[in-house]
Amino acid sequence: MERVTLGKTGIEAVRLGFGGIPIQRLEEREAVEVVRYAVEKGMDFIDTSRMYTTSETRIGKALRETDRRVTLATKSWSRTSDGIQKDIDISLRELGRDYIDIYQCHGVSSMEDYRLVTAPGGALEGLHRARERGVIGHIGVTSHSLDVLETVLEDGLFETIMVCYSFLEPAAGDRIIPRARAKGVGVLAMKPFSGGVIEAPETAMRWILGCPGILVLAGVEQKRLIDQNWLVFEGDWTLTEADRGAIESIRREYDRKFCRRCDYCLPCPEGIPIQMVLGGRSFMKRMGIGILENPNVAETWKRATRCTACGECMTRCPYGLPIPDMIRENIEWMDAFRRGNARPD
Ligand code: SF4
Ligand code: SF4
Repeated sequence: MERVTLGKTGIEAVRLGFGGIPIQRLEEREAVEVVRYAVEKGMDFIDTSRMYTTSETRIGKALRETDRRVTLATKSWSRTSDGIQKDIDISLRELGRDYIDIYQCHGVSSMEDYRLVTAPGGALEGLHRARERGVIGHIGVTSHSLDVLETVLEDGLFETIMVCYSFLEPAAGDRIIPRARAKGVGVLAMKPFSGGVIEAPETAMRWILGCPGILVLAGVEQKRLIDQNWLVFEGDWTLTEADRGAIESIRREYDRKFCRRCDYCLPCPEGIPIQMVLGGRSFMKRMGIGILENPNVAETWKRATRCTACGECMTRCPYGLPIPDMIRENIEWMDAFRRGNARPD
């Protein structure tokens, strides 16, 4: 069972961790059982968020039902010192702990956002205060933006990063992961199945586990899937001929319709966070409609309507995605979803 040390934090954990998003969708008892099952199987790293509605509470309940020692990471979308400290206190209560190993700034999606977080009175200051109080151990950041993560690594203000990584969106493998490891920043890899787009989970697992020095977070809501991932984790990660064929075919299928979250298309003159809009359906599937009440999510969709179809972004997208058309389709889908006429797919 391979373990990894998360950079200079010194935290050591099994390389396959538990992602706390999907358990929101279950009945409470079932969710608690799933978390307990994962922990007793051997997973000793759990990541969740203040944003994932019931997730922290359910994880807290599950951990009270087992003696296993688990490293906990959670996060907050608050961008202010006072706001994130309030969220930390809520997280401590929900998780039933007096200490959280890693607390992260959640979803820092643009340089503007990064400046807010790191400015005086921003969330980073609140995280330092919480660490001085002894209620958190380490400070991390999560982002879908490789540009933001490059700056994070340059500035050296965070001890861990969380980045999207899979064979459909492998850019972090060149741009982010080697630099983070060289600087002693712990790497948490999210979305190993690209938010549910990859329908070859065993292949995706072998592919990502083959990248050394990172902790992979897989969000699962069924014991069967925990077993499936664990079997791969304990096996040989060498890609088979069938794996290579599946990777080629999935990459081909999604070549012109899957956003790899690389941000090469930015900046958009209308300030549209393009990758957030293009990934909107998969996001809604994982988070549920309640997430539309989150001001940042609401703002993302509002900005999307400002697209003038100028095409500037398309000249920069290395994958040739028809971005304005995809934005328009996603807005139409979201309107139907709000009216109850569409399902997340
Ligand atoms: S086409 Fe739309 S998303 Fe792309 S740069 Fe122009 S306004 Fe922004
Ligand atoms: S639209 Fe293209 S350039 Fe922009 S984030 Fe997605 S894949 Fe990258």
